[in-house]
Amino acid sequence: MTGGSSLAITFDLDDTLVRNAFSSWVIPEIAEHLGNGDSSVDLRAALFRRHREALDRGDPVAAYNWQAHADALAVEVGVAAGSVDVAATVRRHAVPGKVRLLHEHTVPVLRGLREAGWRVSILTNGFRVYQEPVLRSTGLWDEVDGVVTTDDIGRAKPDRRAFVAALGEATTTVHVGDRIDHDVQGARQAGVTSVLMRPDAPFAAVTLDLDPARAGELDTYLARVADTHGMPVAGRQPATLVPDAVIADIADLPAILDELGKEATTAS
Ligand SMILES: [Mg+2]
Repeated sequence: MTGGSSLAITFDLDDTLVRNAFSSWVIPEIAEHLGNGDSSVDLRAALFRRHREALDRGDPVAAYNWQAHADALAVEVGVAAGSVDVAATVRRHAVPGKVRLLHEHTVPVLRGLREAGWRVSILTNGFRVYQEPVLRSTGLWDEVDGVVTTDDIGRAKPDRRAFVAALGEATTTVHVGDRIDHDVQGARQAGVTSVLMRPDAPFAAVTLDLDPARAGELDTYLARVADTHGMPVAGRQPATLVPDAVIADIADLPAILDELGKEATTAS
């Protein structure tokens, strides 16, 4: 880049750009294997509980280490540790039909951003070994400049250091994601412009300066989404949980970036 300015944008992966196979295929298969036909114990729930417990004790790297959860659970239920290969299971299910892009116009939008001078990266809390097969299967691997994962950096969203690691020295920074707790909160705390992208968003808009009817609708929507993430938002407070913009579809992103003054369509 020239002129001392540079543009960098990061995208969350799961439920922002893609629907993965983890909940519907990978975890059920692992649970079935560990259960060995015994349906009396909910091993899916046990795997997710281990994930949640690691998050709650502030160890995100451990939280997203699904192999460690599977191994620990195997010992608990008397199955040989190492009999489950989570990465191999992910790779087997990372196929069209089981993983897919959420938005039809994803690739043209990413290409347009890169042509306009943006450095486009994925910033995901998933481990690389689980996310790379999904990125390759959906064709995203060749459409981004970088992929930053929790095991790469030893940090996870909303830790501001994850955003710093992914966005580098860029002077204009934007993060797009579907979660208020990880994506919005982390971006806001890191001083990064935050775009909440969810198919259920009521409209595409910059959250400042809405007319009263839309402002009310947005507040209700944000409170509902925040509640699903265990974060209370009411009346645009706390500000760290309120995104700078909301969109339902990635096709709306370039116009929203322009409206935010982020030069989506010019490289100057
Ligand atoms: Mg997500």
